[in-house]
Formats: sequence, C-alpha cells, structure tokens
Amino acid sequence: MMLVIMSTLIADDPYAGSEMPFAADPTPVRLDGVTKHYGHGRGRVTALDNVSLAFGAGSFTAVLGASGSGKSTLLQCAAGLEKPSSGSVHLCGTDLNSLSDRQQTVLRRKRVGFVFQGLNLLPELTIAENIALPLRLGHRRVQRAGIADAAARVGLNAAQLRRLPSELSGGQQQRAAIARALVSRPEVIFADEPTGALDPYTATSVLNLLRETAQGTTVVIVTHDPQVVRFCDQAVFVYAGRIESVVPSPEPDAVAAWLHEYGARAAGGSSSYNGGAQ
Ligand code: ADP
Ligand code: MG
Repeated sequence: MMLVIMSTLIADDPYAGSEMPFAADPTPVRLDGVTKHYGHGRGRVTALDNVSLAFGAGSFTAVLGASGSGKSTLLQCAAGLEKPSSGSVHLCGTDLNSLSDRQQTVLRRKRVGFVFQGLNLLPELTIAENIALPLRLGHRRVQRAGIADAAARVGLNAAQLRRLPSELSGGQQQRAAIARALVSRPEVIFADEPTGALDPYTATSVLNLLRETAQGTTVVIVTHDPQVVRFCDQAVFVYAGRIESVVPSPEPDAVAAWLHEYGARAAGGSSSYNGGAQ
C-alpha cells in the first residue's frame, strides 16, 4: 500500500505546470457496478461485489464494516489505487477508465488528499517538508506562509515544523498528515483508518480537526470505530463486499450494534442482536 501511495507521490508528471482539463462535478466520487476480485481459480476472492455508490460534493462519510469486508478495497478502487475487475469509477468528474495510469496519478496528486493509519510521513523529512511534499511533487510553488498556515490549522507550531516525525507524538504526526492532505486544497480526501493507532481522546480531536478543516471537501473515511460517525453526514455499511445500507446522520450506538451483529456474522458466530440468524 505504502509503495502505491509513494508511486502516486513521486511518479513523473508530464503535465507539470499546466492545468489538466478535468471538469468540476457535483458528485466527486462515484462507483458504478464495481466488482473487484483478487487472485485466480480456487484462490479467487471477491473483495467487492457489484458496488454502486455516490459521494456528493462536500459530504463527510464513514465506511464501516468488519475486518475483511472490503472497506479498504472500496477506498482504493474509488481513488484509482486499485483497478476494478469490472464496473467504472468517476473521480472528480472523470471516468478513471478513460485515463492512463500516469494521468490518474496526476489527477490524484492535484485533486485528492490521503490520510492513512501508519507510515504517513517520510521519516527523514521534517514536518514542514512532509507537509510541502504534495506541492513540490506537483511542481507547485511552496510558500513558507502556506505551509505555516496549513500547520496552524491543525494546531502545529513553528518549532514542531522543524522537527522530524519521530520527534512528535502519534497525534501530532497524524495532525501533520492531515495538514499534508489539506495543503493542496484537494476536492476529495480519502482516509483509511486514520485514527486506528491513536488513543480515543486523540482520535476524537484529530477527527474534529479533519471535519473543521475539510469544510467543502468530500471526505471518505474507512473505519471500524463507531465513534467516527459522530463527525459524519452518512455511514456506508459494507458486508462481504456488498453495500448493506447507507444511513444518513448515524448514531454511534446504532452503529456499534450493527458492527457487533455483522462482525459476529463475518466470524461465523452468533450475535446477541440477531440470535445467530443468518
Ligand atoms: P477491510 O479493509 O474491510 O478489512 P479489505 O478490502 O482489505 O477489507 O479486504 C477484502 C478482502 O479482499 C479480504 O478477504 C482480503 O483478504 C482480500 N484482499 C484484500 N487485498 C488483497 C490483495 N492485495 N490480494 C489478495 N486478497 C486481498
Ligand atoms: Mg482495511
């Protein structure tokens, strides 16, 4: 995964300095009948099974489900980091099938931000250099004030900007990762378990921050933490590669109950919520 993200960051940009002719779209992320298989023959796994979903401009969505249900695959297909076996994905108004790998890389770099659980920051770069990375790789002007502004929005000060990631706490590193995702002012931010390594208090403050700073940006967060939905407009529940339901304004308690039930089903066990019904 890290390798894919890194290649997204460092691949050559044949369009450096010029704006790509991508159209704006009221639905910046759309999946139509997306199926994704891994492997072949008997070892074939269907990670996504005919998934159709749309994420409206400025929406803030949690994608929830048990481990192995296909959440990360959904996010990676939506971001073009994995190619669907069938179906199509529109990202920022463009059908990814119509773009070469390199054009997809450019689209992601200019218009999409990523926040992941681990290995988010390059260890040998300072926090300021890490935050500036998407701009540098996109051959865009890096202004010290812009970096300081992005850092200030996530509560990092000038002294912390000069440090290496290993010199900051986990919560501060994740703040820096959010600043890096925001610095290029993307239309879409994809986050896979962004708070998975954090304690509940720090996780809550990081999510609050993402919610506040990403106003107007379409945000898709993969998580198995029911508390995340407190910050979301809608929850998408995934089970065995399919969308079980899309719930507007979800309540954490109802989400926890759902996860309990489907987690038990996925594990092949019974559940106190459905009495073990299938
Ligand atoms: P989640 O993020 O919900 O835990 P994933 O999307 O990672 O689920 O995985 C869904 C299914 O696809 C799982 O059965 C997993 O083992 C399988 N899978 C995911 N990535 C790969 C891969 N690169 N190669 C083979 N199987 C994979
Ligand atoms: Mg996952």
